[in-house]
Formats: sequence, C-alpha cells, structure tokens
Amino acid sequence: MAISIHPAVDQGIRPGRADFSGGTLRCHCSDRPVEVKVSAPFAHNHVCGCTKCWKPEGALFSMVAVVPRDKLEVVANGDKLAAVDPSAVIKRYACRDCGVHMYGRIDDESHPFYGLDFVHPELSTDDGWAPPTFAAYVSSIIESGFDPSRMDEVRNRLRELGLPPYDVLSPELMDLISTHKARQMAAARTSTRSASAASESAGRPAAARPASSASSGMSAPGAGGASRMAASADRGGHRRHDNGGGVRGFFSELLRRLRS
Ligand SMILES: [Zn+2]
Ligand SMILES: [Zn+2]
Repeated sequence: MAISIHPAVDQGIRPGRADFSGGTLRCHCSDRPVEVKVSAPFAHNHVCGCTKCWKPEGALFSMVAVVPRDKLEVVANGDKLAAVDPSAVIKRYACRDCGVHMYGRIDDESHPFYGLDFVHPELSTDDGWAPPTFAAYVSSIIESGFDPSRMDEVRNRLRELGLPPYDVLSPELMDLISTHKARQMAAARTSTRSASAASESAGRPAAARPASSASSGMSAPGAGGASRMAASADRGGHRRHDNGGGVRGFFSELLRRLRS
C-alpha cells in the first residue's frame, strides 16, 4: 500500500477550477462551527511536513496555501478561536473545541510573507481550489516521529503524485524570500549611512546594527528568532525604506508571478 501523505492527495491530485475565487473554511465542530470566508483564490498550495501546521488525523503532511489577509474574514463563531502560540511569528488561530487551525497570520511587517494568511484548503466547503504543487519541509516529518529510514519511500511517493519534495520551501518561494532580504539589507545599509552621518553631526557614535539573518522559513521551527532579530533591527529606523522598497516590491513580484 502506498504511503499516506494527506487525504486530499492520496487518491491522486484533482485539478482545480479556473473560476475558483474563494470559499468558506469550516472547522470540524458539529455544534457552532467556526467559519472563515476567503474571497480570493488560494495561492501557492502545497503539502507541508513541518511540526507547526495543522494536519488532519493520521496525515503525514498538512496542506496549506496563502491568501491576502484583507480577503479573509471570520464570519461565524469567532469567539471559539485562539492563537495556538501567541508568541510565534505565524499566529495560528485554532478552534478551541476541535483543534482545527482556521488561519495563520503574521504581524511582523518586515516578514517576507507579511500580508498573506495561511489556510488549509481542504476545510473549504466549496470545491475547486488549486491543487498542491510541491511538498515543503519534507525532512521535518522526522521531528514528528517518522522513521528516518523510510524517507526515500516518502519522497518517491511525493514525486509520483507530482509534488516535488523540498526540505524548506520551493525554489520559487526561496528566491522571493532572498530577494526580499537583499532589498532589506540594501535599505539597512542606506539607512545606516544616513543615521551615522546624522549622529556624527550630533556628536555621538552611530548605534551598532545587527546584520539580517539569511535563513528564513514560512513555518520552520526556529525561524522566529531570525525574524524577531530582523524586526528589532527594523526599529533602528529603516522600516520606512522597507515599506517603500522591500515589502511592496515583494508583493508586486509575488502578484505578478501569481497572475502569470
Ligand atoms: Zn471547531
Ligand atoms: Zn508547515
């Protein structure tokens, strides 16, 4: 028997509908289910092996996609939602009764994925969302207790399903993250130069600025530290530049790719 990846892909990948423009996500409660309405297609759908994403009972992987945060609205029983870990970079809001994660949100404006919420497409009561196209954080299933000697079996099954396995994110998303970081670093250098010029003229030395970390992750354990570091570096004063270049540039690039 083929190894089970996720119930939505185990029987083969079903194509999405070209006209799918959103859906309502519903938790597993029979009484007062939480409902979240998304008025946009689900982008970058993939299966994820990290230990943070919500997985259906018995699944090795979660299935997760992104949507613009301003297109997501809690429409029913939002009083049952609570952040699983309020200190995490991605705050995952779960139903307190059934435990299903309804959406994940990033509050750090300097994060490469700020502005996008994470959702689990299979919770949608409307069918037709774009199918997953790759597998992320594959090696991380070992952290959930999966036998490391069976990883070939998992990666082969993912390839067979048409889901290229990656141990972080897909090359496309990794390139976008690095592009965002390169812009942030360039903006920080410009800002440091102008800040040191300003403080020299005021007669005191410029404050040391921590370097941005090159590592990143949408959901990797430990990614929070790097993002928090980047966030505290931000308070040094280059956020203004980021918003002009980095974040906005990242989004126009992301939207351009989503539309192409
Ligand atoms: Zn529930
Ligand atoms: Zn994940």
